[in-house]
Amino acid sequence: PAIADFTYQASATRVVFGAGSLCSLRSEIERLGRSRVLLITTAGRRDDTRAITELLGALCVAHFGDATMHTPADVTQRACEAARAANADLLLTFGGGSTIGLAKAMALQLDLPIVAIPTTYSGSEMTPVFGITEQGVKRTGRDDRVLPRTAIYDVDLTLGLPVEVSVASGLNAIAHAAEGLYARDGSPLTSLMAEEGIRALASGLVALRARADDLAARTACLYGAWLCGAVLGSVGMALHHKLCHTLGGSFNLPHAQTHAALLPHSIAHNAAHAPEAMALLCRALGVTHDAGGALHRLNLTLGITTALKDLGLQQADLARAADLAVQNPYWNPRPIERGPILALLENAWSGAVPV
Ligand code: NAD
Repeated sequence: PAIADFTYQASATRVVFGAGSLCSLRSEIERLGRSRVLLITTAGRRDDTRAITELLGALCVAHFGDATMHTPADVTQRACEAARAANADLLLTFGGGSTIGLAKAMALQLDLPIVAIPTTYSGSEMTPVFGITEQGVKRTGRDDRVLPRTAIYDVDLTLGLPVEVSVASGLNAIAHAAEGLYARDGSPLTSLMAEEGIRALASGLVALRARADDLAARTACLYGAWLCGAVLGSVGMALHHKLCHTLGGSFNLPHAQTHAALLPHSIAHNAAHAPEAMALLCRALGVTHDAGGALHRLNLTLGITTALKDLGLQQADLARAADLAVQNPYWNPRPIERGPILALLENAWSGAVPV
């Protein structure tokens, strides 16, 4: 096929990938010339950090263990105060997108570098994208100051990630790559990364559903998450991400599960307006046509909740969600129109087959 014109900027994040790669943590921090680490985790994982604090020894000057989904402003303020009080010079995240999201919001205020040890498949560690929730509205933006300097992908640290969290966050990663395939600012390289990332995750997730501690499956998923995160870090997203941010920020739906439930519908909605992207998506999913249907069947195979009503969205909220989704103009392969978007949301709410 003919190669269209493109612009591509490589990411500045250094990537250390492999089982046991956590052992490089000290040297990676020293490489950045830093010596006062603030460790960031979510509340549920305070006890899982011993390996890291032991490895860091005196390098770790404080631990903030209250990272929360969607980065509420009050939590960010408390975390910044903890960083200032400890005179921290580096933010180290151990966990999923919630921990990385907090570090990014802090980096905007404190101008400190981030090292990320991702333990889910959110891909946030590869992006300069931040999201901040204030007064019920989630605002997102891009800023190179929040891009982690280093990401350490150690598959051993993901073996205990519960299957339900794994499959939902894997679909979150697939969503980055799927929308990346029809991004206006895409390039041959981002398409290669997206297709390979989707392929690795789709097969890896099915295998880990059968055996949660399957090291090869976990490695494939983490590899896919890296690729899909790199796509999200390189190109702009469209309708699907807009809808998920609206549902998460304004209706408090769980981030990754919402991505998983909505993706088949967003893709089916855009399909006729992005035929080349659909061909690549189908190839990655191992089907010849109907990528939306294939994603829906993948959700069913993985035991993912397919109906937004089962994630806490009220039927009465659908109209407001559609209003919010058309409020600020943004690019999408299919023109943004309230009627069809409301129909998409209604279909996803009931968990029906995507149309
Ligand atoms: P999360 O970080 O909230 O983690 C989900 C749950 O899994 C938490 O309870 C956490 O404690 C637990 N957990 C994480 N790793 C574990 C492990 N190895 N073992 C056991 N438990 C573990 O969820 P997420 O889906 O990774 O991230 C969601 C957040 O990330 C949202 O706020 C979303 O907006 C953001 N996000 C941002 C970007 C970006 O580029 N800015 C991309 C994707 C997601």
